[in-house]
Amino acid sequence: MKNALGTLPEALAGKVVTPEDPHYPLLRSTYTTVGRPAAVVRPQSAGDVAAALRFARETGLRVAVRSGGHGLSGSGTNDGGLVIDLGALRRIEVLDRSSRLVRVEAGARWARVTQALAPHGLVISSGDHGNVGVGGIATGGGVGWLVRQYGLTIDHVRAVEVVLPDGTFVRADAANEPELLWVMRGAGAGAGIAVAFEIEATELRDIGYVQLAAAVDPAGETLRRWAEVMGRAPRELSTVLTLTSGGTGTAAFITAVVASDSPAVIREAVEPLLGIGDVTAQEAHLAPYAALLPTQHLHANTGQNPSVTTNGLRTGMTPDAARAVVAAASGPRPIVVQLRSLGGAVHDPDPSGTAFAHRHQDTLVIGTAFPPDAPGALTAAWARVAPHVDGAYVNFESFPDEATFARTYPGATGTRVADLWKHYDPDGILRPAPRTPKG
Ligand SMILES: Cc1cc2nc3c(=O)[nH]c(=O)nc-3n(C[C@H](O)[C@H](O)[C@H](O)COP(=O)(O)OP(=O)(O)OC[C@H]3O[C@@H](n4cnc5c(N)ncnc54)[C@H](O)[C@@H]3O)c2cc1C
Repeated sequence: MKNALGTLPEALAGKVVTPEDPHYPLLRSTYTTVGRPAAVVRPQSAGDVAAALRFARETGLRVAVRSGGHGLSGSGTNDGGLVIDLGALRRIEVLDRSSRLVRVEAGARWARVTQALAPHGLVISSGDHGNVGVGGIATGGGVGWLVRQYGLTIDHVRAVEVVLPDGTFVRADAANEPELLWVMRGAGAGAGIAVAFEIEATELRDIGYVQLAAAVDPAGETLRRWAEVMGRAPRELSTVLTLTSGGTGTAAFITAVVASDSPAVIREAVEPLLGIGDVTAQEAHLAPYAALLPTQHLHANTGQNPSVTTNGLRTGMTPDAARAVVAAASGPRPIVVQLRSLGGAVHDPDPSGTAFAHRHQDTLVIGTAFPPDAPGALTAAWARVAPHVDGAYVNFESFPDEATFARTYPGATGTRVADLWKHYDPDGILRPAPRTPKG
């Protein structure tokens, strides 16, 4: 079969979308980045993924891998290259109810996974949005609504089906290809294309869902008290605190999720948050976990949110750190800052057990800026926060470079990740080209 790209392999017939195709506008971009790829391949099997990789090699087209298209660096698209879009690989299957083992394909969205598991009374903690793809979360980390109770998504990945850059198909688990399993859990993007994961889910149906709003003082006392409460909190409680500034000052919007259907447990977990400061609004519900990631979240990605994001991790909250975070969210060019509670089950695994080594910090600090001049605003505001964080989480980073790699994969972890990326992808075909800050 021949088209503008040359001769397509038989296996890819009918699975390639080029700019002339009416579906191209809905497939060219990611959530944050408008792309102009030469073609988007939509594989329906691991064999198709291998054929797409072979085709890219033969034509010299640069490869971008996409599962859900929510990656913040926009590496799920490119200009002039080949996008391998795994969206058609989206089966979800409970393999064994008694051991809670679930097989999910990489192109499924977490809203679909959550809805499919709900009738079984099972949950996989993934992230806060249902449109995010399985592939990006399950190869990078997965800081979800239940993070302190469940840990990261990758902590529960028991096996990964991977197409390596040379086209070989491997099922990696603890007994077979353990090094590949290790790198796929936290640094998978540089080693291979994951087509499916076997993940151990947890038993859960209903959760406590509480929303609070609190005024934030410039000295950051509210944040310090939030961090203190979270330092003592039971694992059932995970919170996300979002700081925004407007005419009336800076406010913290807190979403608290309690992994329990007991009103008494929920009340006991959440009540200390009422003492962090001037809490002006509160709302509490007992809801199915599935209500947190509804199918209403699903949408096409067309570059509609050209934001840029960076992040770091913290242990404890000193007055200086709290002040710096508030200043970033309320300065002359304020950014949106989110604090996500870690700790609990995130600290359980051995730091060398996966490629996500950050097992001692208790807060993930995320900064996001929007146009105009999003990169400039982020750089200026983040300069205040940077001295107060260490480490980074790969999935909340818009401009991954060498310095970010060193923060994300520190020390021996970084050496092992770099060695394994070189081993599995010696020609670096999965390494995205550095992105130029725009927006
Ligand atoms: C609105 C929004 C909410 C978010 N909320 C959370 C959250 O609560 N918790 C959290 O942890 N993160 C969150 N994120 C960040 C999210 O984890 C990352 O953006 C993640 O990469 C998205 O996965 P995706 O499959 O949709 O990404 P894509 O854009 O499809 O992929 C991004 C990159 O990840 C790699 N990748 C993707 N799939 C594969 C695969 N199958 N095999 C190998 N490499 C692959 C590739 O390098 C790819 O270019 C959020 C992002 C957004 C935009």
